[in-house]
Amino acid sequence: MSFTDLGLSPEVLKAVDEVGYADPTPIQAQAIPFVLMGRDILGCAQTGTGKTASFTLPMIDILASGRAKARMPRSLILAPTRELAAQVSQNFELYGKYSKLSMALLTGGTSLAEQERKLDRGVDVLIATPGRLLDLYERGKILLADVKILVIDEADRMLDMGFIPDVERIVGLLPKIRQTLFFSATMPPEVRRLADAFLMNPKAISVDPPSSAATLVAQNLIKVMGDQKDKRAALRALLVSEKVASALIFCNRKKDVDIVYKSLKRHGFDVAALHGDMSQPARTETLARFKDSQMPLLVCSDVAARGLDIPTVSHVFNFDVPVHAEDYIHRIGRTGRAGRSGRALMLALPEEAKGLDAVVRMLGKSIEEMPVEGFEPWSEGDVPVRGRRGRTRSSGDKPAASRGSTRKATRPARDTAPRKRRSAPAESAAPAPVADPASPTPEISAQDPAPAPEMPEAAAEETPAVSELSNGTTGGAVARPKAAAAKPARQRRERETKGANGDAPFGEHTPAFILRPVKVA
Ligand code: AMP
Repeated sequence: MSFTDLGLSPEVLKAVDEVGYADPTPIQAQAIPFVLMGRDILGCAQTGTGKTASFTLPMIDILASGRAKARMPRSLILAPTRELAAQVSQNFELYGKYSKLSMALLTGGTSLAEQERKLDRGVDVLIATPGRLLDLYERGKILLADVKILVIDEADRMLDMGFIPDVERIVGLLPKIRQTLFFSATMPPEVRRLADAFLMNPKAISVDPPSSAATLVAQNLIKVMGDQKDKRAALRALLVSEKVASALIFCNRKKDVDIVYKSLKRHGFDVAALHGDMSQPARTETLARFKDSQMPLLVCSDVAARGLDIPTVSHVFNFDVPVHAEDYIHRIGRTGRAGRSGRALMLALPEEAKGLDAVVRMLGKSIEEMPVEGFEPWSEGDVPVRGRRGRTRSSGDKPAASRGSTRKATRPARDTAPRKRRSAPAESAAPAPVADPASPTPEISAQDPAPAPEMPEAAAEETPAVSELSNGTTGGAVARPKAAAAKPARQRRERETKGANGDAPFGEHTPAFILRPVKVA
């Protein structure tokens, strides 16, 4: 099938031709004719499948007739992160080259005044993150009553980031009669429920089974015996031995992004860091430098895991085993793009065995282990047992003799030997490409903290402040850690209504209305 068979206008076909696409991807071939017919779409597709063009191309044609009124966008695309929203807008610019559509990008971290000016002039296409959109709506800067097409992109990511209440609220502000295009890489029950609520008789399209790893990505696992410091040394060794052209290095926490970034820099690597706590201009600039191949290595949090489309990424390193197994798919999907092959390497300490099991279960197959010279892998017997109080004993609790790459593990002794921190083990095993003579400093001395649950940092980035939401929803703050807090809150509520021992329903304070006699007719 070719693009000309899909029913697109000559203007759009010309733009596509100039971009250099020979044929439509499967999702484009399946979705475009139905979008042009005005049907709702339920698309199960990952980024990298050509999903963005599958909705932008037909939207350009649908919106070609008609004019936008001030502050009343004619279509709305919701994306979970600023980066994804920016990427969709770049697609619109590319494919809409010969169309006269106006577009505004509403994301946090950029000038509100500029965005408001654009809205005042009237826009055909509004691309927004949920928090910023609600913010502007509440300031009365935008009316959503004229939206004819709604796109919800990366719905499962919205769910992960706690945006679903915001999305539900936004959809409640839109006209009931509209066309809705709903995309998600995976379809967990909560996403399915949303799709059922938002879509009318949708055409279901699935181009990639949920949670399947990109086939062009060769994956390996490196089991590193020791601690974070050993992992950093192993990472350096791999960066040298793997002949990395361009790599994303994922850490679970912002703090670790900083530590790994500083460590690599100190060892002479050309590297930058990216996470959601950075200012938007700094994020944009860092990404631009990485995309332009000005800098080969980017240490990042999951803010970079979804949707970023940088075809030149040759390697993805999971410096940490991801907390949520699905994130593994999204992380490694940043390589092996546009038909190229890619490498995905995951480093795992014994204490990450549980997370590793979850990834393997999700993949439905094991990841081939790979030795790294000078580093000793661990085996099942090295996996720490849970402490009495449910704390996973970290490798730092083990004696030096059982850690580290250069020495043999002496497993039975580890519970009794005194704790001792050894010097950086693999400094010599993995020579840095450029030694930094000015820094004889030992490896970053920050104590590698025991893993603590933390809100996925991406969840914080577009989270609207509580005060921004008139209905009291807390946007991103409803992410997973909140769920963990929900149990005590529920128990507290139950205690408050039932009474701690079940017989004093209001505790010590019995409200006056309860004491009033009830008249029986
Ligand atoms: P997406 O899944 O929308 O993030 O797209 C992933 C990549 O595929 C982007 O670099 C697009 O430019 C590219 N792409 C989209 N459609 C096509 C196509 N029909 N042929 C070749 N590349 C495409």
